[in-house]
Amino acid sequence: MPTRRELEMHEMWCGADTSGEPVWHVLTTDRTTTLCGVEREDEDSRRRHATDRHCFPCMKSFQAVMEASR
Ligand SMILES: [Zn+2]
Repeated sequence: MPTRRELEMHEMWCGADTSGEPVWHVLTTDRTTTLCGVEREDEDSRRRHATDRHCFPCMKSFQAVMEASR
């Protein structure tokens, strides 16, 4: 898992995964899309903080970004 300091560069966004379950995605640095390619929607307050699951494709991409910047 990435460290807290690394995560500060990328904002997290709680959206839905492909099956509609809430997950935490990692946003790109321009904060319009997620690392797994989902377009960011308006904040859904019901969904917010509703999960501690993380989007697996986002985490994989995020780790690749971190390794590339090392
Ligand atoms: Zn994602």
